[in-house]
Amino acid sequence: MISKQELVKQLYKSLIDSLPSDVKVTSIEFEGPVIAIYTTKLAYFMENDEVIRKLAKDFKKRLVVRADPRFRMSEKEAEKIIRELVPSDAGIVNMFFDKTTGEVIIEALKVGAVIGKGGQILKQIASITNWRPKVLRAAAFESKIVRQVRELLYSRADERKDMLMRLGHRIHRDLVLLRDYRVRIVALGGFQEVGRSMILVQTKESNILLDCGIKPGYTEEYPYIDVEEFDLDKIDAIVITHAHLDHCGFLPYLFKYGYQGPVYCTQPTLYLMALALNDYVEVAEKEGKVPIYSKRDVQDALAHVIPLEYGEVTDVAPDVKLTLYPAGHILGSAIAHLHIGNGLCNIVYTSDFKFGKTRLLDKAAYQFPRVEVLIMESTYGGREDKMPSREETERTFIDIVRRTLERGGKVLIPVLSVGRAQEIMVVLDEAMKSGKLPAVPVFIEGLLIEATAIHTAFPEYLSKELQKKIYRDENPFVSEYFTAVTSPSQRIEIAQQKEPCIIMATSGMLTGGPVMEYFRYLADDPRNSIIFVSYQIEGTLGRRILDGLREVHMMSPEGKLEVIKVRMEVHKVDGFSGHSDRSQLLAYVKNIEPKPERIVLCHGERSKIFDLSIAIERLFRIKTAVLANLDAMRLR
Ligand SMILES: [Zn+2]
Repeated sequence: MISKQELVKQLYKSLIDSLPSDVKVTSIEFEGPVIAIYTTKLAYFMENDEVIRKLAKDFKKRLVVRADPRFRMSEKEAEKIIRELVPSDAGIVNMFFDKTTGEVIIEALKVGAVIGKGGQILKQIASITNWRPKVLRAAAFESKIVRQVRELLYSRADERKDMLMRLGHRIHRDLVLLRDYRVRIVALGGFQEVGRSMILVQTKESNILLDCGIKPGYTEEYPYIDVEEFDLDKIDAIVITHAHLDHCGFLPYLFKYGYQGPVYCTQPTLYLMALALNDYVEVAEKEGKVPIYSKRDVQDALAHVIPLEYGEVTDVAPDVKLTLYPAGHILGSAIAHLHIGNGLCNIVYTSDFKFGKTRLLDKAAYQFPRVEVLIMESTYGGREDKMPSREETERTFIDIVRRTLERGGKVLIPVLSVGRAQEIMVVLDEAMKSGKLPAVPVFIEGLLIEATAIHTAFPEYLSKELQKKIYRDENPFVSEYFTAVTSPSQRIEIAQQKEPCIIMATSGMLTGGPVMEYFRYLADDPRNSIIFVSYQIEGTLGRRILDGLREVHMMSPEGKLEVIKVRMEVHKVDGFSGHSDRSQLLAYVKNIEPKPERIVLCHGERSKIFDLSIAIERLFRIKTAVLANLDAMRLR
């Protein structure tokens, strides 16, 4: 391992030898996980990208080239030039300059038209403005959250740059000798339970947190961060696998208490997380609770996100490389691969994953360069957790919906804003288009609309099939059947209208949110149906109703306690889950390459985890470990 100074010296030398005389390198900086090479002439590197590719390979580092800010055109001028260069039929919707990276993000309806033949227009933009153009597909409908997050990143560019520089020094610091090397994991949440996922991975050099969630329920619970091992100042990186609150809902809390380090996740997770966390604060406030953190803490957390693409190997600590892989669970969800201590230990943390195709996403990745320890979720690992096939699931679901509508009832579907909701939307759209369901209005609430907009902004993360539809302009998310509910006052009208309809609203487990209001109006009419399409955590109202509760005590908007009788039909349709069922979990263990030496099971109720562990040991002869929260385990 060579020192940082030596590395910079060698890089300079290799560059100077290969560059033409009019291209200068002004500085080389360690910025977070990447080494940034600043130049006077960005276009040269874009046209000769093999120069950097070769260097990156030789040095085994992630290198990026940026124009030296002193040589970039002003944003105003650059925007003018770009609008001149790009043909008007490209439909530029938005332009956003990222000072930290020297990128200009161009959002357009037609991406190809911005790029030009063989990337010609992009090259021109770079060569004239010295900004690196990046083209994104504009969301089919406007997303407030996408704009807000971009503005946030823009306004905090200087601070982000500082963080990246600080981080660069930390990540590329020299290693202490690998003699006596140790790796251990500490279970801080989400073991023998579903919710508050958090795992601390500790080596002699560094501390990495995998996920940072809350556990919703009658009383909300949080990860065990009050243990000795947990030192906020020593955390090198937090990895967020996906934007569900049980995996990211606790993140702003750590920022509230002084964490200033990086958060790694995919690009869609950043935006979906912004949505979920802001909503979490709003819902708590609306219900008169004091949220455990404020929107400012949420912004802090978002400002520290370093987005990664699937398959990008990234140094996150001097001895740890992180790579994210598709998990098939929700948009942008990731399986985290940690390559620790020059390969002394390789961990794959599946988090929530689906080893099977859905309408929304392709199935989870299962091939890795190396794996010794597999940490796997077990939500549906119990003996009885067999899910019906997708076709059967859809048939059952559509059947319940059709019967309800035909008897003049309304269908209430509690959903998480992200994931199942969009899956169900695709199913409903298809069923109405093909005549399997009568065309009735499907009401969706604000948050769902936002989440859906984010889905259409990142088509490359969706299943191949859905991508094709969207590129053919058959985007199911903008279907005529969906009606956005823009004001809470509309809810009572919708609930009391005579005509049948379908309502999709959050939260997915009846723990709060607009669904509660609909539930209050619709519960006592036996013509109506409530259909649960996602996992119901123990203790939530959703779970208790599923378990037979037929009288619910609720607060009316006037603050009066009332008893709601549940006379509507209660249904549960399991097969839409973004989780693997038992057979898919076992198939994953069977198929994962290479074969792990040990499997740690998490994210599941106790009995299911033990069930699954027995099956894995018997079928595959792989040692499993069942940890409880607060347990630690040495991996090497
Ligand atoms: Zn999840």
